[in-house]
Amino acid sequence: MTKEGYNPFKMAQKQFDRIADMLELDVPERELLRNPLREYHFLIPVKMDDGSTRIFKGFRIQHNDARGPCKGGIRFHPQETEDTVRALSMWMTWKCAVADIPLGGGKGGIICDPHDLSEREQELLCRGWVRQIARDIGPVRDVPAPDVMTSGKHMLWMMDEFQAIHGGQYPGVITGKPVELGGSLGRTEATGYAVIYQLREALKEMDIDITKTKAAIEGFGNVAQYAAELYIEYGGMVVVVSCWDQKDGKAYAYYKEEGIDLEALRKITDRFGTIDKNKAAKMGYERMDGKEWLTKKVDVLIPAALENSITKDNVDKIQSSVKIVVCGANGPVTPDAENTLVENKVIVIPDFLANAGGVVCSYFEQVQSNQNYYWTKEEVLGKLDNKITDAFYKVWELAQKKKLRVSDAGYMIAIQRVAEACKMRGWV
Ligand code: GLU
Repeated sequence: MTKEGYNPFKMAQKQFDRIADMLELDVPERELLRNPLREYHFLIPVKMDDGSTRIFKGFRIQHNDARGPCKGGIRFHPQETEDTVRALSMWMTWKCAVADIPLGGGKGGIICDPHDLSEREQELLCRGWVRQIARDIGPVRDVPAPDVMTSGKHMLWMMDEFQAIHGGQYPGVITGKPVELGGSLGRTEATGYAVIYQLREALKEMDIDITKTKAAIEGFGNVAQYAAELYIEYGGMVVVVSCWDQKDGKAYAYYKEEGIDLEALRKITDRFGTIDKNKAAKMGYERMDGKEWLTKKVDVLIPAALENSITKDNVDKIQSSVKIVVCGANGPVTPDAENTLVENKVIVIPDFLANAGGVVCSYFEQVQSNQNYYWTKEEVLGKLDNKITDAFYKVWELAQKKKLRVSDAGYMIAIQRVAEACKMRGWV
């Protein structure tokens, strides 16, 4: 979401330009990779429950498909912008490449607030989105998935509409589907778990015992909840989580010195990840302004909400106890904030690597859907751990060898792979 003075696409291009210089990419390679290949902008009329008709704005942006069909989520958000979707589509290209899966990058969105929409209106919105783009997505072209404020039920409506238009069963058109209808076991857990697989490995490399660490997590949606779950299982202690409170129109952070009770908190949280503030108070949580989530004395910070969270304006509030930031969200740390963190010797595991578990599991789901043969949860999570741990070490080792920050090493690997694919195809 573009706030004044912050444009995620400009930021993504700036990140790209730096690495393109380091890799000495030539001009056509740069021109091709610093912009999306294709963009679709369209209007979606919806007959609302009260009889009125509302026109929504939708997007699908396909950044690059040299390594395989485009892949990436669809977001529902009132402050969605073209430039946010452009940036996110570019980050998806790097994410798939760094994880070494045969997919490109895409992203979609609808400007809307699902809090204010009935189930029926949301269904019409999903079907309307697919009607506008049905010829330009598909298992061999572009495969959407859930993202901010979308879930399995939205994916299923979209799949159903696509199948009605194309007259066939194409479960591989979309991922993040419910397990009962073509989804993969483990997909719900995948992003949050893979954040923690990487934290586990990074802490090992840093010679830090995970069971002696404390973490603050921004967000309490799908990524944050499963990251907390596995981190606690590994013996870590989560002392802060935060969430958006729709009623109050602001974010709150909840702090408990002796560690959160994840299951109890989940019971008082709605489907958008909003914690009931009165019940949380009764359970002994200290409620702080959402922006304060990063101010406590912890070892690990996991921003797992939205972009533009750790910035030059608040990076100085981070305690010197923090040793690592693992980016569960997309774009949560701005480049200038990352500079400060790196200067302070804090390891930053960048978003496109840290949260790649979601899309890796989506890839597994696609493989299963296309073959119509489904794996056990253990198999899925085992494959996920292997793939992510492998990606992590490729990046980590390059960073050590070339004395680079982790994000630069990750971008170098990813951008090199995509540039190479474009060259091999004869595009540049
Ligand atoms: N929305 C997730 C992401 O940003 C997952 C994308 C996907 O599974 O295609 O990585």
